[in-house]
Formats: sequence, structure tokens, C-alpha cells
Amino acid sequence: MSDALMPTYARADLAFERGEGPYLYTADGRRFLDFAAGIAVNALGHSHPHLVQALQEQAAKLWHVSNLYTIPEGQRLAERLTANSFAERIFFCNSGAEAVEGALKIARRYHFAAGHPEKTRVISCAGAFHGRTLTTLSAAGNPKYLDGFGPVSEGFDSVPFGNMNELRNAITPETAAILVEPIQGEGGVRPADLDYLRALRAVCDEYDLLLIFDEIQCGMGRTGKLFAHQWAGMAPDVMALAKGLGSGFPIGAILATEKAAEAMQPGTHGSTFGGNPLAMAVANAVLDVMLEEGFLPEVDRIARLLWQELNDLVKRYPHVLAGVRGAGLMLGLQCVVPNTEVIAKLREEGLLTVGAAENVIRLLPPLIIDETQVKEAVQAIDRACASWAEAA
Ligand SMILES: *Cc1c(COP(=O)(O)O)cnc(C)c1O
Repeated sequence: MSDALMPTYARADLAFERGEGPYLYTADGRRFLDFAAGIAVNALGHSHPHLVQALQEQAAKLWHVSNLYTIPEGQRLAERLTANSFAERIFFCNSGAEAVEGALKIARRYHFAAGHPEKTRVISCAGAFHGRTLTTLSAAGNPKYLDGFGPVSEGFDSVPFGNMNELRNAITPETAAILVEPIQGEGGVRPADLDYLRALRAVCDEYDLLLIFDEIQCGMGRTGKLFAHQWAGMAPDVMALAKGLGSGFPIGAILATEKAAEAMQPGTHGSTFGGNPLAMAVANAVLDVMLEEGFLPEVDRIARLLWQELNDLVKRYPHVLAGVRGAGLMLGLQCVVPNTEVIAKLREEGLLTVGAAENVIRLLPPLIIDETQVKEAVQAIDRACASWAEAA
């Protein structure tokens, strides 16, 4: 059936016809609770009426004009993102990898403009994931994804995630920036200590390095604040966003301070589709919802509830589950048995989840879930674990 597609994905034999809120439905009417959310993308669930309306209205007016012209919806989105973050300058693109690539370009250009063209290297963390382009793969340095793809992009130094001593030792006169996910996603839902994030800020200030956060997965409300680093009361110089920003419409963004982005003058970077009116309209609609008073505190409240329930499950099924980690609604269940088998069993129980490294199952529900869905998910995990005990 899918022979014409490159077999780059190990797809489940499962197709959906429509979605509503946190649920997905197959053509034959089966309902699934979606704790995968398109891999942390559908932040506001499926078919959110406000997003559907924004897209439909924009689709009837104007799709694409290119960046040769002013795009008022984009100016508005950029103003709102700066008003609600550390950033003063925004660049819109179409995906996470593209946002990280742009962020890396900004770091090199920053030092080039400051008279330090030798500062091009970027320190990144083991276990990181920054996208699938050659350079973002090189930045993350995961051999699993690089094997067979020829020379890696030069200029990356990998250090263990969370280790300040090793990171300090890796700084050389050629270092331009530090690139970190405040919570590693693909790497197994590993949150950085807030002290580590603060120490990164301090070391970047000390050596005039740009601090780049990849909040493609952990940003946009997922932790109960708009951006994960805000829990640490500090800010990076540059940040890559994508995933939840369009809640299902493809969009990426680079957020930067004016100082970091000053060297990005006309001609230094571009994207044909980036910032197109459709994406801008949807992302503005996403912000309408996320910035509503009470939205993020409710994410935080529900997340704490889910956290508690999951910890209870770990206590009851220690032969299946080893622990819970993560923050907000970006949670990882570390498994004792193979995570792929638990994910398959959960799917049979009507709950969709995502795998990650370190034998972890990612729970990435839409941010709009309430107690009902927490209960449904916990019951599904409970049933899956119970069946395991019988089989064991
Ligand atoms: C998904 C992800 C990316 C890559 O985003 P794409 O849109 O697939 O290019 C980069 N970094 C992190 C942390 C991600 O979760």
C-alpha cells in the first residue's frame, strides 16, 4: 500500500480519518487518546475551532507572497513572541531543523561581525537531537543517524549533558556558542537541572559565547510556562522553536536578542516559505489560546496530577516501569521491559505514545487535556501493565 513511499519510517499499520481535541478516530470509528500529539506538535489538540477558523479565513484571503513583501500577520506574530520572551528579533522558517541551522548561522555571524571569524565552533550535548539535516545531525553527533552519510559538518564539540566541568574544559578560543535542549526529548525526556541552565548562562557571559536553546519540543507551553527555560529564571541569546508553535501547521522560528541577531542583515539568511501568511495566521491563533489568562497554570495543574498518577503506576508495576521523568506535559516513562512492546500494548488499549532513547516512553499529550483524559490514560497504562504481569 505504501510502496511508493521511501521506507524511512517504521510506521504502525494504523491510519486516522479525523481528530477532535485529544482524540483521533479511524475510518472504522475506533477512538484513540492521543498522547503522542504528532510528537509534541498538536499542542492544542486536533481541529481546535479557533485554529480551524484562523486557517480557513486566511486560506480564503492569501496563502503566499514571499518575503519580498511585508507580511503584517508575521510582524504581529513576531511582536507577540518578543513581548512574551527574552527575544527582540524573530526569523520565521518551516521546521525545527531549519530553525536550529539558522540559530547556528547567527552564532557564527555574531562573532564574525565582532571581528572574530575564528569563533565558529559550537559545544553541544551527548544525547541531543536537533533535526535531520546534515549540520543539525552533526551538531547532535548521534552515530545512529550519521552512519553512511559521509563527512559530518565540522565545528561541533560534544560534552555530557548536565556536566559543567566537562563543558568548561571544552571551551577554546574558537568556541562560538553552546547549543542545549533544556529538556532532551528524543534523548529520553531528560530535563536539565535548573542550576545547569543558570550555569550555562554564566559561562556564556564569561566567555562571550552565545547560548542557544533548542526548545522545539519543550517550548510553547509544554512545561506549563511558555518556554521551559523560564522555570530557571534566565534566558538564552537565541532559541529555536517549531513543533507546538503551529500546533500542526508547519512553522519554525528563531528567536534572538538584538545583540545576537544584529549581524543578520539583508541577504544573510532566507527562506522561501518561511513566515507565509497561512503559518502566521495559525501561529497567531495558537498564541491567542496559550496567552489566555489561566491557560498555562492549568497545564501546570494537570501535569502535576498526571505526574502523581504515573508515579503511583510505577510503584504498582516495578517489573514494567522503572520511573517517571520530565516536566509539565513532557513526561517520560522509563521502562523495564522493552519500550516498543509497551507502546504497542498501549496502542491496543487505545492510548498513543512515542518512544525515546534510554528505553523511555514519551507522554506528550495536547495541552488541552483535563482530568478525564488523565484518568483514561492512567487506566490504559494500568491495563497494559497488568497484562504484562500475567504474561511474565
Ligand atoms: C523535533 C525536534 C527537532 C527537529 O524538528 P524538525 O521539524 O523535525 O526539523 C529539533 N530539535 C528538537 C529538540 C526536536 O524535538
